Amino acid sequence: MTLKKTKIVKALSSEGVGSELTVTGWVRTKRESKGGFSFIEINDGSCLTNLQVIASDHLTNYQDEVSKIQTGCSIKVEGTLVASPAKGQRVELKAEQIEVLGWADQDVYPLQKKRHSFEFLRTIAHLRPRTNTFGAVARVRNALSMAIHAFFQERGFVYIHTPIITGSDCEGAGAMFKVTTFDLANVPLADGRPDSSRDFFGGPAYLTVSGQLEAEVYALSLGDVYTFGPTFRAENSNTPRHLAEFWMVEPEMAFCDLDGNVEIAVAFLKSVFTYVLEHCQEDMGFFNRFIDPGIIETLEKLASQDFQKLTYTDAVEILSKDAGTFEFPIDWGSDIQAEHERYLCEKIFQKPVVLTDYPKKIKPFYMKVNEDGRTVRAMDVLVPRIGEIIGGSQREDDYHTLLERMKETGIDPRVYWWYLELRKFGTTPHSGFGLGFERLVQFVTGMANIRDVIPFPRTPGNASF
Ligand code: ATP
Ligand code: MN
Repeated sequence: MTLKKTKIVKALSSEGVGSELTVTGWVRTKRESKGGFSFIEINDGSCLTNLQVIASDHLTNYQDEVSKIQTGCSIKVEGTLVASPAKGQRVELKAEQIEVLGWADQDVYPLQKKRHSFEFLRTIAHLRPRTNTFGAVARVRNALSMAIHAFFQERGFVYIHTPIITGSDCEGAGAMFKVTTFDLANVPLADGRPDSSRDFFGGPAYLTVSGQLEAEVYALSLGDVYTFGPTFRAENSNTPRHLAEFWMVEPEMAFCDLDGNVEIAVAFLKSVFTYVLEHCQEDMGFFNRFIDPGIIETLEKLASQDFQKLTYTDAVEILSKDAGTFEFPIDWGSDIQAEHERYLCEKIFQKPVVLTDYPKKIKPFYMKVNEDGRTVRAMDVLVPRIGEIIGGSQREDDYHTLLERMKETGIDPRVYWWYLELRKFGTTPHSGFGLGFERLVQFVTGMANIRDVIPFPRTPGNASF
């Protein structure tokens, strides 16, 4: 069935009062009025607002079908767009013909008028995108993807597809999922341990935690590149900001040092905030009203304001003064926790913070060691409410230093021989960062839980739905 139809977003914004059109969608509500009319609100996902359909009891199938339409049914309406006398809408559709395409039994259809909790909606992931909130999240997520590609494409970055399955087991960022075709009840062993040389890939294989190392290969050939794809972490983090499967955006730039990296990260965030404010006005209005009052103003401010730049060492000094307010201790050398990150953004500076030059012992082997020998050219971008949204660094570009760092941190240089060779042939300062895409969607929409900004969240104990 191909239907020549008009999207509701178009119908609502059209000046075409009097035009004949066909729309399709799902019924949100229906009420009957005196005088032989039904008002049917339908939504087709193209925008937040429903289109009101006026169905008169003169329709030939009124008794048999139209009068039985209820929430959740899918219908096709042919009619004329007329100016609406009702408040809050410019146009409505006067139906000449209504066809019910799919019924929805009210006794079992779970999405009725009442508001449902996000927890409950997670149990019906197949229907939740039909709610206002999840429809808006999906559209904003879509727009953010476009904004990301637009930012990089306009600057000549090349989009690279890095592998999802990898043979390197310690890319420096959390636990990995193993990939195997072994029958787990009957694993071939060698010296009492799984013999991965007989597995599918002839060696151990994992789901990637990051596309960075492979992106570096392409940066050192093509200059400026980025990846945007799924990544996986097998850490048991049951928090509102961790998923086991999430999408990451990872630009990597050759001939670029840490300052250049920070500059691009800040310009990037500002650009995507501006894009969404411009392109998702209706949905952002919804989030601003029902989910996170003030989010529009926050994003507008961020798009125009400077970010606070600060070294790790200075941050620790500031945080130590208020050490009593934190659950986790804060000393030079310890990791900065989300509570500390938020404190810096929300209490101290009231703006996003770019933290740089972390101790080398809490950062991965590939970050460039500073002259002091104790810190590395790392940068994290922290935002209010979320904490870390971007993590990045200038990469170690000196062959011998990198080799030493691998040995120090227990990483087998033989596995990363190709990564080392990049430092042997035409090495150059280069930098990059990783943005957790769902954290960005969370931040922009104000949604409290990361499980509600990805269509099918994968978390410890849940991969089925
Ligand atoms: P955190 O300390 O918050 O767990 P991380 O230091 O492990 O983050 P990185 O390894 O630097 O994070 O990953 C880069 C970005 O990916 C982070 O800045 C964050 O936005 C995002 N990210 C990391 N882990 C997750 C996760 N489990 N779920 C969703 N996003 C994540
Ligand atoms: Mn982590």
